[in-house]
Amino acid sequence: MDAGIREFVRNRAFRLCEYCRMPDEFDPLPFCIDHIISQQHHGPTAESNLALSCFNCNSYKGPNIAGIDPETGLLTRLFHPRVDEWSDHFEWDGPRLLGTSPVGRTTIDVLNINDPERLEHRGHLIEEQVFPPPNR
Ligand SMILES: [Zn+2]
Repeated sequence: MDAGIREFVRNRAFRLCEYCRMPDEFDPLPFCIDHIISQQHHGPTAESNLALSCFNCNSYKGPNIAGIDPETGLLTRLFHPRVDEWSDHFEWDGPRLLGTSPVGRTTIDVLNINDPERLEHRGHLIEEQVFPPPNR
């Protein structure tokens, strides 16, 4: 992937993880350019299939494109940052991210967004009043 497309994806996302909205400047781990539909499922390396992702979200997502909604037990697709509106699927409860739809709940579960270490990190950023970022 060339540097130009990486920079385009970073800037389009305002340098926030497009899943958990962590700003890259506050994360010690390097952010990744995520294939929303993974290459294993023939997702192209095209702007319409790329998203900025923190290392944690990207690692847990892996090649997954779906999961099991923890509330209903039903097979459910993951959040698609190019198609879905973030605020239609997620809301904050302090440092904890809540899924307000099946897609939101499933994405939080598969990407392990409320892992205790991640909650603690977001809690510190909230105390410093630099998180969550404004909705755009
Ligand atoms: Zn993330």
